[in-house]
Amino acid sequence: MNLIRPLVQKLKAYVPGEQPRLKGLVKLNTNENPYPPSPKAIKALKAAADERLRLYPDPTAGPLREKLAKLYRYAPENIIVGNGSDELLALATRAFVEPATGALHLRQPERCTVQYFVPSYSLYPVLAKIHGATPNPIPLESDFSLPGLARLRRGRLWDFRAALTFVTTPNAPTGTGYPEEELEALCATQKGIVVLDEAYAEFASGNALELPRQYPHVIIARTFSKAYSLCYQRVGYFIGHPDLIAALDRIRDSYNVNGLGQEAALAALSDLPYYRTNFKRVVTLRERLRGELIGLGFGVSPSETNFLFVRPPGRAAERWLHELRKRKILVRWFHAPETRDYLRITIGNEREINALLKAVRGILRED
Ligand SMILES: *Cc1c(COP(=O)(O)O)cnc(C)c1O
Repeated sequence: MNLIRPLVQKLKAYVPGEQPRLKGLVKLNTNENPYPPSPKAIKALKAAADERLRLYPDPTAGPLREKLAKLYRYAPENIIVGNGSDELLALATRAFVEPATGALHLRQPERCTVQYFVPSYSLYPVLAKIHGATPNPIPLESDFSLPGLARLRRGRLWDFRAALTFVTTPNAPTGTGYPEEELEALCATQKGIVVLDEAYAEFASGNALELPRQYPHVIIARTFSKAYSLCYQRVGYFIGHPDLIAALDRIRDSYNVNGLGQEAALAALSDLPYYRTNFKRVVTLRERLRGELIGLGFGVSPSETNFLFVRPPGRAAERWLHELRKRKILVRWFHAPETRDYLRITIGNEREINALLKAVRGILRED
């Protein structure tokens, strides 16, 4: 219909992983945590679900921002909470990037540029296109490591002045951890805003939480979805310079974070030992699964996340996707040229990992 903006008519939406209605599937396709949220979080949610539901929630997520600030030794002014970190990634695109139109685009194209490595989070190009900005995808090295500064300069495609650069760290869907020195070197050189998307940092051996103290153009993105088993509640946050946070605050909806989500996230933070035990269990299972899959002939990149990026043997990765699904195992496959030879497998619990391995052995026996 021509009542719809041409940009929107042409737009390809982000494709989320399947949330099956079918029961009994082993769901290893969307990087959800296999363990339940802390009993304290569930109790807090239930206790909050009463007649208060008629009231608006705290518009600034004040208590949650204060608790996060204490935990990471920042000020509440350094923190904004969103309806999942996805909402904040979209707000960052709107607050920091100009749509690519008219004279500005000709004179200063970098101000209209959203830059990211490929493969990384496939939401970034969608956010750029929704906003009418210019996506600038730059390939990672063939082993999925970060290209060094010299290489980025030589390649001439990386834009050191890009208005907004998204770096998923540790990376998704590859699981790769990037050394802190390399991230810092990149941040130190970049002129525009850099968002370090640390959705999986709790499963990694390091993180970049200190960088925003030193670099006022660097923002850390975190979420309660993956590590804190709260995907359903949609709570994420940014940590950065108060001026950037204030800019994002100006353009967000007044009540962007639902009240039950705020309660659940607060309660989760009061039970960190519970979660730290789960992070360790996920990491232990990840390393076990990696070893077993390598033994079965898979190529498996080292992972600092709660998933593995694997190159299956024999048949094509897409065929593996279907064969596993026939055996009630759901994993993720991305059809882009740089990812189509791989599967992304979320670390489930021990029972789920055993079911996956059993299915894999069954498929291999059929060859
Ligand atoms: C899951 C994920 C997010 C989104 O997290 P939400 O808080 O659930 O919106 C952001 N970035 C990456 C890289 C992710 O994998």
